[in-house]
Parts: sequence; C-alpha cells; structure tokens
Amino acid sequence: MLATTELLSSGQVVPWLIDGRWEAPSDAATIDVTNPATCEAIGRIAYGQAADATRAADAASAAFDSWAQRSAGQRADILQRAADILAGRAAAIGDLLSAETGKRRSEAAGEVNFSASYLRWFASQARQAHGEVLSPEDPARRHLTLTRPVGVVASLTPWNFPVSIQARKIAPALAAGCTVVARASEKAPLAVAELFRALQDAGLPDGVANLVQGPAAACTDALIAHRAVRMVTFTGSTPVGSRLMAAASKRIVRCALELGGDAPFIIFADADIDAAVSGLMTAKFRNNGQSCIGANRVLVERPIFDEVVSRLAAATSAMAVGDPAAAGEPDLGPLIDASRVRAVGELVDEAVSGGAHWLGDSPQMPSGPCYSRPGFIVGAPGGSGLATTEVFGPVSGVFAFDGEDEALAIANGTEMGLAGYFYTRDVSRVWRMSERLEVGIVGVNHPLPSVAFAPMGGVKQSGLGREGARQGLEEFLDTRYVSLGL
Ligand code: NAD
Repeated sequence: MLATTELLSSGQVVPWLIDGRWEAPSDAATIDVTNPATCEAIGRIAYGQAADATRAADAASAAFDSWAQRSAGQRADILQRAADILAGRAAAIGDLLSAETGKRRSEAAGEVNFSASYLRWFASQARQAHGEVLSPEDPARRHLTLTRPVGVVASLTPWNFPVSIQARKIAPALAAGCTVVARASEKAPLAVAELFRALQDAGLPDGVANLVQGPAAACTDALIAHRAVRMVTFTGSTPVGSRLMAAASKRIVRCALELGGDAPFIIFADADIDAAVSGLMTAKFRNNGQSCIGANRVLVERPIFDEVVSRLAAATSAMAVGDPAAAGEPDLGPLIDASRVRAVGELVDEAVSGGAHWLGDSPQMPSGPCYSRPGFIVGAPGGSGLATTEVFGPVSGVFAFDGEDEALAIANGTEMGLAGYFYTRDVSRVWRMSERLEVGIVGVNHPLPSVAFAPMGGVKQSGLGREGARQGLEEFLDTRYVSLGL
C-alpha cells in the first residue's frame, strides 16, 4: 500500500481498509479534505456507507478467534514493531497531520510519537492480562479466573488528536486480543490511515484492524447493531456520546466514553507566577486551543489577579499566528474549520456584550476563515458561555476568587469533569485540591499530564472508563470465572 502522502501527490483517493485490503471502489463517493490554513483541498478520501461498516465488522468478526488465540507475546511483538515503524515515519506523518488539522508541525510530529508510545505501552501490558487462582474452601475444588478479550470493538474518534486518540484505543484493544473497526472523523482522516498502514506493515493479520469512512450516524449505528460488536469506545462531544450510549443500550454493548472537558486552571496567590503563566499558555493554546483537557476557565486568587492579567495581556499580544507550514513556527495555527471559529466567536460576543473585555491587543491575524483571535477575557458574566461551557478554541475567561473553597465551588460547578489544573507551593493544599476537584485528571504545577502509562478519563458528563495505563487494557477484557472439581 502506498503511503498516504504518495496517494495524495498522485491525485489518488485515500482508501479505507477492510480485511487487509485498501479499497477505493471507482463508484465510491469521495469527499475533500481541506487544509484550514489555506482553505485548499489537499486530498480526497473514499466515503463509504453503512454497508461498508457492516462488511468491516464481518471481517473483524472472522478474524477474532485466531487473533484472540495468539499468545500475548505474539500480539505484543506486532504492536512493538508497529510503534517503531510509526515513530520512524513521524516527521512525514506529522506534516500530513499538520496540513489536515492546522496544528503546529512540531506538535503534529509529537502526536505521532505519542501514538507510538501507546503502541509500546500496550505491547508491554499485553502480558499483564492474566487471571488469578483463588484459595478454595473445599479441598476438592479449585477456583480461578481467566481474562478474555471482549470481542469486536468499534473505535470512534474525533479530529483534534486523530492519530493519538485512535492509537490510545486500538493499542489496548489489540493487546487484549480484540479485533477492531475504526471510524475516523472526516475532518482529519489522512494521517490516521498511516497508523493502520504501520500496523499492517508490522504484520498485523488481515481483518484484525479495519478502518472505514462514511456518514457518522449511519456507520456507527451499523457497527453498534452488528451482532459481533461487543464494545464501543468513543471520544468526542458529550451529546454524541450520549446518543451512542443510548444505541449501545439496545444490545447491552459495553461503552467507554471520553467526552467533553471544561478544565479549570486555578492559580493560587502562593504560586510561582512565572511557572503558572507559562503553564497556562501551554494548557490553553496547545493544539490551537482545541484540546479536551485544555485550560477552559482561568481562576486567579484575588491578591495576584492584576499581576496575572497584565502578564497574560503581554503574552497573548505577542503571539505569532499563522500557517504552520510557513517558515518559522507560529505560536498558533488555524482552527479546524470556519464553523469552530464561529462557535468560539459567539461565546466571545456574548461575553463582550455582557460587559467583558479582551486582555491586551490582538496579535496580527492572518486572513482566512479558520483563524480565531487568541487571548483571555475578563469580566464575563457568571452565567455566560465563557464561564459555564467548553470553549474548544484559543480563548478563555479569567475570573477572580477568594480562597480555596470558592475556587473549588467554581471549578466543580459544572456538569463536566475531565481535567483540572492548579498552581500552588503549599503541599497540604496539593493533597486537598487533588482530592476535592471533581475531575479525572489533575495537573499540579504542570500543564501536560498525558502519558501512556497513566490513566486518562473523566467523571460526571466527561465520560466513562479510562484510557492508557493498565486500566486502559482492562476496559477491553472480560473476567471469566472457572470452577473446577478435582
Ligand atoms: P463530535 O462529537 O462532534 O465528533 C466526534 C466523532 O463523532 C467524529 O468522528 C464525528 O464524525 C462523529 N459523530 C458526529 N456526530 C455523530 C453522530 N450523530 N453519531 C455518531 N457519530 C457522530 O466531537 P468533535 O467536534 O469531533 O470533537 C470535539 C469534542 O470532543 C469536544 O467536546 C472535546 O472535548 C471532545 N474530546 C474529548 C476528548 C477526551 O479524551 N475526553 C478528546 C478529544 C475531544
């Protein structure tokens, strides 16, 4: 199979992968993939139908027994090889990822290497999927547990980290012995095809990992309704996650859901202000502000409020915004599309019409419908969208608070609970806050908590289940109890 970049440069359609064959039938519908920095189409993907998703699930079902029966070591070897292949291609795949999403090239290459780290971690965890022997009460009996792969998994992912989120799902699924049908977002479907090519090049048997493209609701409904599909793992917005959970409930299909975030970023008066401001700039503007664990609401303790806002004004006014492919890496690229820019703009307009204002000047903005002014806003009314919802763009409201209890009340006051950050030098407060923040991931004095060996996931409406770590493998395993009479 040609690399995706070779397909694109020769004008060919990027195919889907079913049962080990890359398919782009000549009568298949296609859709364009657009570079948000330039608004130019950079390629076309074959766009299937629900029937193609069903065919992929048939292939995953047929491949299941022999993959599940391989030893953990055999599965681990393939994942390890795929990790090495993927990492070896990180620069080229990163450039493709940058072009389809607008993320900075260094971040895009970093995402590909991060994806390889999930393949490596779950290669190491494959052998840890073992049961236990229980102490019997009756000398003539024995009791033990086995772990078994759940079955065929539907792996459904968004556009913001299209490669690493898919890797974080399929690596543990494959390590556990499951087979997979993946559907990627049509907004960023190119680089993720390279993840599947790396697995294939590493020797993954046909049908074990399949990749389909097509209308979201129709394809996912077909997958969830398929008799062999026993689990759906989804990352995306809370409303879509809720819809998938309802569909899965009809067949009692297991769900793992990584949903919307709303991370509070709390700076206490005793914090190292340099570190806090620098951490906030990273936690807010990484991935052009489109990260589910990105800083969303900034809470600053009143004695240092003026100093923090003046530093944020200076830092954001000096940002370089532009095309990630241009010489010299900008601090910020475009958002994924014009509709995301409009959604962010509506939140800003609502806050400003309620009396809020930007901190500092606007950086020089490139022309183009996908660019959104980055920065911080003070004075947003308490009930406004900036204070209560996920922005998912390069803007945050900044709010003052008095004391730990008020910070917690504001931070915990929404229905979301994915990540939360705080900066302080008080060790006792580190414990108290870590225990009382209602989130699944806590960043203390550090803006980048994600690593393959630690569990990632949310509470409340931010989701169910954990990805990464040993918990990420357990999601894809059933425990079987064996009772043995001697
Ligand atoms: P989205 O829910 O609109 O889309 C996610 C995926 O679901 C895409 O592939 C899309 O094509 C598909 N989809 C859309 N409508 C569907 C439907 N009716 N039925 C089935 N599938 C459907 O989300 P998005 O805009 O792509 O991503 C942004 C959201 O994802 C944010 O809320 C963000 O917080 C969340 N997110 C969460 C995490 C996490 O780990 N918790 C990570 C990344 C993004």
